[in-house]
Amino acid sequence: MSRLQTTDGLTEEQVDLLGLVKEFVDEQIIPVAQELEHADEYPQKIVDQMKEMGIFGLMIPEEFGGLGESLLTYALCVEEIARGWMPVSGIINTHFIVAYMILKHGTEEQKQHYLPKMATGEIRGAFSMSEPGLGSDVAGIKTKAVPGEGDEWTITGQKMWLTNGSTANLVAVLVKTDLGHDGAHKNMTTFLIDKTEGFGETAQGVTVPGKIEKMGYKGVDTTELILEGHKTSTGQILGGEPGKGFYQMMDGVEVGRVNVAARACGLAMRAFELGVAYAQQRETFGKKIVDHQAILFRIADMASKVEAAHQLMVKAARLKDKGERNDLEAGIAKYMAAEYCADVVGQSFRIHGGFGYSKEYEIERIYREAPMLLIGEGTAEIQKMIIGKSILKDYPVKG
Ligand SMILES: Cc1cc2nc3c(=O)[nH]c(=O)nc-3n(C[C@H](O)[C@H](O)[C@H](O)COP(=O)(O)OP(=O)(O)OC[C@H]3O[C@@H](n4cnc5c(N)ncnc54)[C@H](O)[C@@H]3O)c2cc1C
Repeated sequence: MSRLQTTDGLTEEQVDLLGLVKEFVDEQIIPVAQELEHADEYPQKIVDQMKEMGIFGLMIPEEFGGLGESLLTYALCVEEIARGWMPVSGIINTHFIVAYMILKHGTEEQKQHYLPKMATGEIRGAFSMSEPGLGSDVAGIKTKAVPGEGDEWTITGQKMWLTNGSTANLVAVLVKTDLGHDGAHKNMTTFLIDKTEGFGETAQGVTVPGKIEKMGYKGVDTTELILEGHKTSTGQILGGEPGKGFYQMMDGVEVGRVNVAARACGLAMRAFELGVAYAQQRETFGKKIVDHQAILFRIADMASKVEAAHQLMVKAARLKDKGERNDLEAGIAKYMAAEYCADVVGQSFRIHGGFGYSKEYEIERIYREAPMLLIGEGTAEIQKMIIGKSILKDYPVKG
């Protein structure tokens, strides 16, 4: 039992649930991850098992058929799943963000309609802000919804980088709505778009052209989304009112950041485990490489980063669970966990020597997966902007 990544103050229920998830990861995910990744195959069996375990409804309240768990429990489960195979945590991440946004900002009707089916995984969510022309600068989106007769709206534009774009049947899409308010942020709206799974025309005026080929993060599909005169109604606006989309999406991204931090913690932990195991069996110059101090120091450095990232992530999750703002803490957790993960993965790769470059070794796969965490839910530069602006509020100019 490792002393790394432990969490104080968990209830017996949380400990039991995490034990179950760990067992599931060790028995059902780790043994098949390599094969599925090399084939870029969607892990359908794992997804079906996660549905049965209630993982798609982890944070959805019991009244809507979910498990009603906290963000912390969710993040700890995600950490464990990412230790097994990080893209599996990507399959639940956008679903979780969309469910959270509906719970927090949806109308009563939207909650009753979507949440029970999201809890079972029958409805699965994708989350779409990015476009070909922008990712960080969200206020610059071009996709536009124009009002028509009565409560009708028509959406046209192109979205990019939808994680679960083809496997989801619900997409929360951020669009521009010219409401005449000052500032771009108040002229944006989130629409909930129902579609079928798969590629091609998945709903009237909603096309998913194909899968984007990626260096890593395989198994989970990432797609574009073309909206060509998609007709919808005010009833499909998240919260029923236009103009609130930017703030709703930023709230979603804030919990998403804790989630990405948790994924980075899990991936770093796996890289650490692999590095330690390899260092204890490989010999050079007449001794195990772990007995060379340079390698021992690497292990110490990796362990420190694995531990620090976990504690930052736990702090950010607990603040949100207490109902407090966690923009600063989620930004710090996401930034540091993703950077530490990339560093720990790189160090484990080096410990593996030439074998780390072979596709037979897990570290080769993990090495290609870690960079995704530097990008998703905001790059390092974007996190630093959030952290910097937020922390300066505590240091007002005196005199
Ligand atoms: C595999 C994958 C899955 C994704 N899934 C989703 C998804 O499900 N939904 C979704 O909406 N998006 C998704 N994204 C998109 C992702 O959120 C964006 O790629 C990310 O926000 C960065 O945007 P960009 O790629 O346009 O880079 P840009 O914004 O063009 O940035 C390019 C570089 O400039 C830097 N930069 C930008 N602005 C500044 C600044 N003001 N100061 C200093 N440096 C700056 C950035 O940090 C970066 O290094 C996904 C991306 C990937 C790769």
